[in-house]
Amino acid sequence: MDRIDLKNLTLPELTELLTGLGEKKFRAAQLYDWMHKKQACSIAEMTNLPEALRKRLSEQFDYTVLTKVVELVSEIDGTRKYLFRLPDGNVIESVRMEYHHGISVCISSQVGCRMGCSFCASTIGGLVRNLSAAEMLEQIYSIERLGGEKISNVVVMGSGEPLDNFDNLVRFVGMLSSEDGRNLSHRNITVSTCGLADRLKELADLDLGINPAVSLHAPNDEMRRKLMPVAKRYSMKELMEAVDYYIEKTGRRMTFEYSLIRDQNDTNACARELITLLKGRNCLVNLIPVNPVKERGFERPAGPNVQTFQKKLEKAGINVTIRREMGSDINAACGQLRRHYEEEAKG
Ligand code: SAH
Repeated sequence: MDRIDLKNLTLPELTELLTGLGEKKFRAAQLYDWMHKKQACSIAEMTNLPEALRKRLSEQFDYTVLTKVVELVSEIDGTRKYLFRLPDGNVIESVRMEYHHGISVCISSQVGCRMGCSFCASTIGGLVRNLSAAEMLEQIYSIERLGGEKISNVVVMGSGEPLDNFDNLVRFVGMLSSEDGRNLSHRNITVSTCGLADRLKELADLDLGINPAVSLHAPNDEMRRKLMPVAKRYSMKELMEAVDYYIEKTGRRMTFEYSLIRDQNDTNACARELITLLKGRNCLVNLIPVNPVKERGFERPAGPNVQTFQKKLEKAGINVTIRREMGSDINAACGQLRRHYEEEAKG
């Protein structure tokens, strides 16, 4: 049986575990504080716990920490891309970005991905496994430790489909925002899905207070199915029903990500169709000129075409932003850093 990872447990669960071992309740609070507030790298560091307890915990339980394998720093805007090694040897990517309102970290939710989006590098080798809540938290804690700083926003937009790892994602959000732990406000957490409509509704029912985002990338079923296999499972109608359910249930605005691909989804006709699809909804469209991936052969539209697309939506009263390109000198689209690393390792 897998060993229990202490960093995966909520405070009530940790309390149950420690009292079960014959320890006082406050020891759980101390341990939780060391893990999630002080972000200790090891159990040995937790000096207000008796040595015998530290020894016992180290022997009986896992304590996930990540190892930095690669760190790329942008000379343009300070963006940092990290490759971290997990305890089982797999590697994942995380990104730290500086904005005027603070520092944002983009984390992975799975090793690889099985959603198969045609423009995305993360999915090329398929899904290896889900990340645990501890492994998602540790991406943030590692970056905070490395920079000696606190970050202000977390976006679950790295490799993987977060709603395909639903239970761990929900656990992660709960722990990240817990007052006894890292205490990051729900409002500063964004979760992006490729459009698992059923799961999106379940997420709405939990009403976690997080910011939802859906990767749309096409204005109709036909085009979306060519780009994203998930669109064969859930039609545009089903996806939009789930989106409306989410907005209604939680009162939050939905962000739609739309990666612009030259001569495919960037035409005037697409803009018109997108307007018809989204009009009247409490939403924001985030346009992302597609990041060319060597294996995929997609190109970005010429600069002015991105603006033309934006203006068309704006004129129709839809909120639009163009994703600011971060760290263009260290640019590796989602999943490319890990892919290159693994290819080199294979030789
Ligand atoms: N699986 C989730 C979150 C991870 S991807 C989702 O699909 O939303 C984060 C965003 O980057 C998604 O909108 C994804 O479609 C987009 N993306 C992936 N590869 C890209 C590329 N090469 N260029 C532009 N956007 C890309």
